[in-house]
Amino acid sequence: MTENGAYDYDVVVIGGGAAGLSGAMALARSRRSVAVVDAGEPRNSPAEGVHVLLGREGIAPRELVARGREELRSYGGVVIEGEVVGASRGDDGLFAVTLGGGRVLRARRLLVTTGLSDELPDVAGLRGRWGRDVIHCPYCHGWEVRGQRIGVLSTGPMSVHQVLLMRQLSDDVVFFAHTAPPVGAEDRDRLAARGIEVVEGEVVAVETDGDRLSGVRLADGRVVERDALTVATRMVARTSFLADLGLTVQEHPMGLGEHVPVETGGRTAVPGVWAAGNVTDLMAQVGAAAAAGTMAGAQINADLVMEEADRAVERMRARRPFSAAAEARVHEAVAGEHRHGL
Ligand SMILES: Cc1cc2nc3c(=O)[nH]c(=O)nc-3n(C[C@H](O)[C@H](O)[C@H](O)COP(=O)(O)OP(=O)(O)OC[C@H]3O[C@@H](n4cnc5c(N)ncnc54)[C@H](O)[C@@H]3O)c2cc1C
Repeated sequence: MTENGAYDYDVVVIGGGAAGLSGAMALARSRRSVAVVDAGEPRNSPAEGVHVLLGREGIAPRELVARGREELRSYGGVVIEGEVVGASRGDDGLFAVTLGGGRVLRARRLLVTTGLSDELPDVAGLRGRWGRDVIHCPYCHGWEVRGQRIGVLSTGPMSVHQVLLMRQLSDDVVFFAHTAPPVGAEDRDRLAARGIEVVEGEVVAVETDGDRLSGVRLADGRVVERDALTVATRMVARTSFLADLGLTVQEHPMGLGEHVPVETGGRTAVPGVWAAGNVTDLMAQVGAAAAAGTMAGAQINADLVMEEADRAVERMRARRPFSAAAEARVHEAVAGEHRHGL
């Protein structure tokens, strides 16, 4: 027997980062029973701090999540540490969410906030430095590397944009042409005019000195000294375990990776399932992920409110002694009296 009879929670939230915890908070504060299942690996966990986050600037990523969990619990929300391995919808319309250990949670609605995986370019040593001195985002890490010797690894057309952004942060910026298609004439002029050196040749590894990046090694053996390397990742929504649900990913329109498409507010193509944060918006930073989670939580609550109101109307009508036709005649008679000023 479950807590509510047929189901355990109104909503199960899969993934407890900024998006999932914010969505759960909106639901818990609306007196919805909600459980967040979280595997505990927020995307930014390799980084020292969360930046451009008003009111919590520089907070450690895991501390932010820990605070969010406590805030959620203070409204009765439940946090379950674990991994969701599958989900399906039964004939009764309820979702069954299966956890790694075999536990199954039944819920009326799902919110998917599992984030994304960053697939790094195939260069030796990148993963080990990721989020520290191998970086991707000037707003997350730029201030921390300002004035340093920065490299940008070209992997596609967006790399020119990336190197121009990094140039705003340092006078010493090198563009590694790597294996990307050659830069066009207009962009070459932009790089030259901004004093950005272009280094031709494939990058094969990053060099380290103790626990810090010291340079970039090219296939011909040259080493270019650098303090930080900026890369673009292929961003892939974490949803493979939700295939049974019918939730599919699509190639992102800007070629950034794969995401779950949603309507405004987070409704997916699968009835009863919402998604928010990086799993659908690959570019969302923490603030945007949290805002999208809140919106999705609010929309799920509204959806449940309407379902419950409709069911209440059905029950009310079933209890009335009149037939629908008799009821309509009563309404018409009352309306007639009003028309005649009685
Ligand atoms: C290195 C780095 C640094 C960054 N720095 C910043 C910064 O300074 N400022 C900023 O605003 N943004 C920063 N970002 C972006 C930030 O990480 C994302 O905006 C944010 O994490 C998105 O939140 P989310 O809730 O969508 O996903 P996440 O925070 O990734 O949370 C998803 C959660 O779902 C869990 N999960 C996944 N699969 C399952 C499953 N099957 N079952 C259960 N749980 C699951 C994960 O373990 C994780 O806890 C950075 C990103 C990176 C890579």
